[in-house]
Amino acid sequence: MTVVTRFAPSPTGFLHIGGGRTALFNWLFARHFGGKFLLRIEDTDRARSTEAAVEAIFDGIRWLGLDWDGEAVMQFARAGRHAEVARRLLDEGKAYRCYCSQDELTAIREDQRAKGLPMRYPGIWRDRAASEAPEGVPFVVRLKAPNEGETIIADLVQGDVRVANDQLDDMVLLRADGTPTYMLSVVVDDHDMGITHVIRGDDHLTNAFRQYQLYKACGWEVPTFAHIPLIHGADGAKLSKRHGALGVDAYRDMGFLPEAMRNYLLRLGWSHGDDEIISTGQAIEWFNLDSVGRSPSRFDFVKLTNLNGHYMRDADDGRLTGLLVPLLEAKTGTVLSGKAVARLRTGMTGLKERAKTMLELADSALFYVAGRPLALDEKAARTMADETAIADLAAYRTEVKGLESWTRDTLEDAARRLAEARGQKLGKIAQPLRAALAGSSVSPPIFEVMEVLGREESLGRIEDALGGTRPTESSAA
Ligand code: GLU
Repeated sequence: MTVVTRFAPSPTGFLHIGGGRTALFNWLFARHFGGKFLLRIEDTDRARSTEAAVEAIFDGIRWLGLDWDGEAVMQFARAGRHAEVARRLLDEGKAYRCYCSQDELTAIREDQRAKGLPMRYPGIWRDRAASEAPEGVPFVVRLKAPNEGETIIADLVQGDVRVANDQLDDMVLLRADGTPTYMLSVVVDDHDMGITHVIRGDDHLTNAFRQYQLYKACGWEVPTFAHIPLIHGADGAKLSKRHGALGVDAYRDMGFLPEAMRNYLLRLGWSHGDDEIISTGQAIEWFNLDSVGRSPSRFDFVKLTNLNGHYMRDADDGRLTGLLVPLLEAKTGTVLSGKAVARLRTGMTGLKERAKTMLELADSALFYVAGRPLALDEKAARTMADETAIADLAAYRTEVKGLESWTRDTLEDAARRLAEARGQKLGKIAQPLRAALAGSSVSPPIFEVMEVLGREESLGRIEDALGGTRPTESSAA
């Protein structure tokens, strides 16, 4: 049997983080077995589904790197097929027309409520003969569901879950206007798409009972279900915006890398021993549904950020530079020159060591592309206000000015020679140098920075720090 999974989002908003995890689990399960991962857009709620949300979902899934097989199925377009299945059930006596009016149903419900009974449709039209049907009265089509025995779902995550059939009433398959209900559409689509495993949030577990009954009535094979516990916030409460229940695009904008997101989402509910860092390749190799936990997982921003730092350090320098350029262009409001981009590329090894997100990377890389004279932050300004720091910097400038080769090693050697001659520690020169070259008290290793900036730019920045006037804000190169 080829494994076929699907992700079936409703396009009523962005692709939220829980949806991203569901998509990831389905994708991993399919890829693990060399099967198929399909996408279905459940756009039958016409009032709430929007084109923009469909696009946002495609974008989010693509950004996460979860490629789906074939064309996405649009559910609303299949309404005719869904209705056809209901009509077949009607012909076979497995469904029936119910002529109860809304008023009648409301009265029944109120009566049940008053008596403290569960509110269920009592099967009024279930066994009536067709000859009793009133003429010209609208009807809905209901499933003639079994009212004795039990429905048992052998869920791969939740174990066996069961419900007594008399607890479930006869669900509506077609509304009075002839449109299919959500429950009917899901089952018909999953069947027609050949879905073998339905992996989704456990908020759909109760739907699975009715869906199971519908499969049986249709004479179709029931897929295997796996209902994953939902994601909670760090405090254990249901995930809200405050906890990080944002769209996947928000995580991209916060500077997270898709591979870090995949690793983090995987660990939200699934484990492989004590492993925290799991590459996508390993995830495909190891993923199974047995290792999905039964309790809700907690969303932890700090963990995600640290994991992202790991993937940033691992990422290719050229790729990071490509991601960084638009961020810096937005920050500076300028188009970066080829020279500035080349500097970022050469300086990337040192830069990425210190950043946990792309936004941090952009902050720390700004000095490489800032124009002269550089603005100094408060600490750097304080350093440059010191007479000895200025004297040390001036002496260093003299030492390096005539260097034949301008590399981190020759520059460090020069600093060493100077420190020895002046009876100082090597670290002494680093402070004013950093202030002059990076405009702050933190930067990648300073001799590396000098090599990346090159002779002309480095000496120019030192010159500015020694004598020139300072702007209050940095401008772009
Ligand atoms: N469209 C449903 C949702 O977005 C998912 C239905 C399913 O996976 O069966 O929650």
